[in-house]
Parts: sequence; structure tokens; C-alpha cells
Amino acid sequence: MKMNILPIHHGFSTFDITEIKSNELAEYFKEFKEHINECEYIGCGHIKEENCGIKKAVQDGKISENRYQNFIKIYEVLKDKEEHKW
Ligand SMILES: [Zn+2]
Repeated sequence: MKMNILPIHHGFSTFDITEIKSNELAEYFKEFKEHINECEYIGCGHIKEENCGIKKAVQDGKISENRYQNFIKIYEVLKDKEEHKW
């Protein structure tokens, strides 16, 4: 198992998403972390869930809309990969 493959301060240019699970993705968005404990559900995917701390933070302008859209894009890629295991 590989950990710490993402140098957080470098953003996503070296982001190897093939190594990440969809349910771990939010951990790689460092400004998301402080809002995750506001999610109502443990294991919240931060996409379709109600009472999601991440979605609320986006609405409140605490997380940039761009970053959240990026998150969704990557999340969907990861989900797709997990559902169609190679
Ligand atoms: Zn959430």
C-alpha cells in the first residue's frame, strides 16, 4: 500500500489518482479536511449527500467552487475505475 504519494503543497500536477480510493479523495484536498467532520454521514461522498459539510463550505465560500468541481471530476473517475475493475 502506497501512502503519501501526493505532495500536498504542489497541488495536483503530480497527483497520481490511480493510487487513490474514491472514499479517501477528500483527504487529499487539504482545505476540505476541517469541514468533513460537519458531514452528517460517516463515509459521506460529498456529492449527493444531504447535510454535507463540504457542500456547505462551498456554498459559504469557504471552499472554492473550482476546487469542488475538481473534486467531483476526480471522484467520478475513481468511482468509474472501482466499478470497472481492471
Ligand atoms: Zn460530505
